Amino acid sequence: MSYKDVLVHADHAEGTLHPDFSGLLAAARKIGRPVAVVAASAEHLDNLVEQVKRHPVESLCAVETPAGEQLITSELAALTAALDRLVDGDAEKVGAVLLSSGIKCRELAGRLAVRRNMGLIIDAVGLDLVDGAVIVQQSVLGGQYSVASGVNHGAPVICLRPDSVSADVNSPETVVGCMVTRMGIAVPSDADAVVLSTSEHRVLDGRPELNSAPIVIGGGRGLNSAENFGLVQDLADLMGAAVGASRAAVDAGFCDRSLQVGETGQIIEPELYIAVGISGAIQHRVGMQNAKKIIAINTDANAPIFDIADLGIVGDAFTVVPQLMEALRDRAGATS
Ligand SMILES: Cc1cc2nc3c(=O)[nH]c(=O)nc-3n(C[C@H](O)[C@H](O)[C@H](O)COP(=O)(O)OP(=O)(O)OC[C@H]3O[C@@H](n4cnc5c(N)ncnc54)[C@H](O)[C@@H]3O)c2cc1C
Repeated sequence: MSYKDVLVHADHAEGTLHPDFSGLLAAARKIGRPVAVVAASAEHLDNLVEQVKRHPVESLCAVETPAGEQLITSELAALTAALDRLVDGDAEKVGAVLLSSGIKCRELAGRLAVRRNMGLIIDAVGLDLVDGAVIVQQSVLGGQYSVASGVNHGAPVICLRPDSVSADVNSPETVVGCMVTRMGIAVPSDADAVVLSTSEHRVLDGRPELNSAPIVIGGGRGLNSAENFGLVQDLADLMGAAVGASRAAVDAGFCDRSLQVGETGQIIEPELYIAVGISGAIQHRVGMQNAKKIIAINTDANAPIFDIADLGIVGDAFTVVPQLMEALRDRAGATS
């Protein structure tokens, strides 16, 4: 059986490669020959190329995008150009395009699929090559079922959930002689949107990224106000955790929308998720139910979040969280 090229999108934030990249490469290796593509402005591109080359990848397409571009348009143009280069007039050459599952990547995937008339499969949790066809295990209906999905023509564009495929232990740490092809793209003239103004709204405050942090503290409407939401942020800082939120907390203005966990927010799979004042609506659970351990703090003993919690604390967040923080500080003091 001949293996095809699999285009692997190397996502990054401000010049740092996304940790999901290793898993995407391992997934690509299961179904074909990985060809990475990274798109960035000149400011970050060389550095990102070096980061990609530390992974076991034989071929990399590095695309320079216009400086200061805030929209997804140029990254989409870069991805499309890299795909077209691989296809080179014969769509059969490419087995799949793999991206991670963040909001931006899902948008990129959808747009690329429409542009090149390819099938789109999101929420992938595994994949295999069966009789030459890419078959994807896809999590559907809020994670209640896993189904086998494929496309009925051409190659699929697939968004893979984090940690779905472990980094391939059999592949070399690095590949000596990764072939790097540099490309530029013209500023897309068919852009249907332009940036009129920008405002800083990503509030990480030195905390880990939500979609890769091992510990996430999620705050909900039960916290009642933006000021009280600070309780969740304090607990996160004490535990070195990321902050997440329910949509109700986001809609109420307690925190930034980039922190939303759930169906229309981020899908996360941390080692530990602590839900504070979150009822556990299905749309929220979709985003966090694959956490290895779940702790819920809620005044309502019948809140659905307790159905999936490993440890449930029926109590007032404003009493329980300060007690928890005190206990953590005591423990840190005792061990230092
Ligand atoms: C199409 C669609 C998409 C959606 N996408 C998402 C999504 O991506 N993410 C998401 O989260 N939601 C999403 N929602 C909304 C979702 O249905 C729920 O409305 C939302 O998750 C509820 O948020 P919450 O649990 O914070 O609020 P609530 O349901 O109001 O729950 C608040 C909880 O706090 C508890 N509480 C109150 N006071 C305290 C206290 N002092 N201490 C401890 N606990 C307390 C209450 O008992 C209650 O259980 C979506 C809805 C739709 C229709």
